[in-house]
Amino acid sequence: MPTRRFDLPSDGTPDHWYNLAADLPAPPPPPLNPGTGEPIGPEALAPIFPMALIGQEVSAERLIPIPDPVRDILAMWRPTPLYRAENWERELGTDCKIFYKYEGTSPAGSHKPNTAVAQAYFNKEEGVERIATETGAGQWGSALSFACSQFGMECKVYMVRVSYASKPYRRTLMETWGGACVASPSEDTNAGRAILAVDPSSTGSLGIAISEAVEDAATREDTKYSLGSVLNHVLLHQTVVGQEAKDQMEMADAYPDVVVGCAGGGSNLAGLSFPFVADKLAGREMTVIAAEPAACPTLTRGEYGYDFGDTAMTTPLLPMHSLGHDFIPAPIHSGGLRYHGMAPLVSHLVHTGVVDARAYHQTECFEEAVRFARSEGIVPAPEPTHALRAVVEQVEQARREGVSKTILFNLCGHGYFDMAAYDDYFSGRMTDYELPQEEIDAASEVLADLPRVG
Ligand SMILES: *Cc1c(COP(=O)(O)O)cnc(C)c1O
Repeated sequence: MPTRRFDLPSDGTPDHWYNLAADLPAPPPPPLNPGTGEPIGPEALAPIFPMALIGQEVSAERLIPIPDPVRDILAMWRPTPLYRAENWERELGTDCKIFYKYEGTSPAGSHKPNTAVAQAYFNKEEGVERIATETGAGQWGSALSFACSQFGMECKVYMVRVSYASKPYRRTLMETWGGACVASPSEDTNAGRAILAVDPSSTGSLGIAISEAVEDAATREDTKYSLGSVLNHVLLHQTVVGQEAKDQMEMADAYPDVVVGCAGGGSNLAGLSFPFVADKLAGREMTVIAAEPAACPTLTRGEYGYDFGDTAMTTPLLPMHSLGHDFIPAPIHSGGLRYHGMAPLVSHLVHTGVVDARAYHQTECFEEAVRFARSEGIVPAPEPTHALRAVVEQVEQARREGVSKTILFNLCGHGYFDMAAYDDYFSGRMTDYELPQEEIDAASEVLADLPRVG
């Protein structure tokens, strides 16, 4: 009987995605057309997304079948392992049971290929030959480059300039899988050129890179756009993670009191937690935590309202927590957690009190990452170090309350391309950024001109 590692049989990946929208007491507010203020229809998204994904975006079906060609590719690394963190528990001196789902075993080293493969497949099915996208730290760009290579498609990636410079091997990884990667803002699009005209040394942001990729897709017949987080269909594709974890927790004879994920756009948190959130909505007692950086505190300090998904204001208005579409975050190491907005579904759950949000500074997160690596062996990506910090906070709280809890978190990626971040931490060069209140206030002014929710 294994006590540390819980593996499903090789065909143990679910054959359906789980759609939380089917079980919500009230649906989240709809995306709006910024011109009319009216809810958008599917036709508004048709120039940039294939119809199958648009259908999933608005679906109210509880279970959506995973096509066999997608399952075949996922089977390269799925089911992923679930571990009980016995060594880390001992190190923390806790009698809480800590489990983690490890998504770092995918070819790109994170949960992102779960949706990249599905998105490439549905594009290919509708005759699309080329996909344009943005990437922050390079995780998404490499995941989509991998997925496109599996289906013989082209991939163009606009990579946030600060990460393009600081994470060169992620770019090389994209190129290895045949992707083409440029630093954003770039000279390749109107949106990029407009930013560079005002600020030639712009470090870029996800909002700017999205504008570039959307423009690329909208202006080319052979190309569609793809997003690695935030949208309903992306969160949907990640639910294989939580469905597997549920089966594996059962093998461990356990059920989580607390489920934790780091949150940049919300997809790995949603992927792990939504199958459990279904039980919470049905009455089960459970705490679900979104862990985010204090330097980009979208859920903990951003406003809940309508905002654009991108800086150039080309996307529909999404109902979400936001720091404002022109927000440029401090250059923290968690490139994947630097987005100004948040998935509408996750925002809705935080707004309605189903999910709690917590923010942490990067040095306290890396402190946990090093302790984790020295006990469990795996070196976490910078993003899930925030989940680690949230887990430790839960452990400390349990100790104060004199209770033992079962905690499950998503170790959504490994950090083997992020050694520069660990290097900064060890050498004392890593700094913390507290977002000044003036910037939050400035964002409120930007958002005040946009529609409110409800
Ligand atoms: C992209 C990424 C994130 C942030 O995205 P979510 O949609 O919030 O999951 C977090 N961790 C890793 C390893 C990533 O690659």
